[in-house]
Amino acid sequence: TPLVVAIDGPSGSGKSSTARGVAQKLGLAFLDTGAMYRAATWLVLHSDVEAGDTDAVAALVGSADIAIALDPARPTISINGTDVTEAIREPVVSAAVSAVATNLAVRADLVARQQSIIGSAAQGIVAEGRDITTVVAPEAPVRVLLVADPQARVARRQAELGERVTSSEVTDQVIRRDRDDSTVAQFTEAADGVVVVDSTHLTLSEVIDRIADLAPT
Ligand code: C5P
Repeated sequence: TPLVVAIDGPSGSGKSSTARGVAQKLGLAFLDTGAMYRAATWLVLHSDVEAGDTDAVAALVGSADIAIALDPARPTISINGTDVTEAIREPVVSAAVSAVATNLAVRADLVARQQSIIGSAAQGIVAEGRDITTVVAPEAPVRVLLVADPQARVARRQAELGERVTSSEVTDQVIRRDRDDSTVAQFTEAADGVVVVDSTHLTLSEVIDRIADLAPT
């Protein structure tokens, strides 16, 4: 059976770069599940549905076509035919995403889509998010919780966002999203059998090597 590597972690833990690197190193596909929650959020923000209208949001997202490219070298995402790869990284989406991600009907919908993507990845896949090790792929042979000190995570987010935002905006974003996300699931506690990797004092390639080494040979 194709290898599934599940990686969870909070925002700024370096999950995406790590998961992409692991996928490239092991020759696997790559699924960024956060991008799906972000695309759903982008759609809500570009509709006349109120983010707080749970049923309307679930219906809007449920009927949306989400197309995600699984190539770790070039991950792109479209929703209802619009390429939102860049747009989903905007601070306005980051600020609204927890509200959409706490909608249980949206979660059930996206989890089912993610499981179907993982199930059809013939060459194996690295999936990253917040509930991959616990809900989406609890049977994955490699399951990792990536953690890092808050200061390290703020610094990484800042480096990603560059000039667009101030460091206090980034700090607010990371700390607030930790708090908002903590109501969704057991995002920061490692479930049984999940390997915790602390990236605070490791380089990206060290983290990638450490996770790739967990894969059965
Ligand atoms: O990983 P990223 O920071 O892009 O995820 C964006 C948001 O999507 C998270 O803050 C969280 O609210 C939500 N998310 C989730 N479950 C996942 C992945 C992301 O709730 N598996």
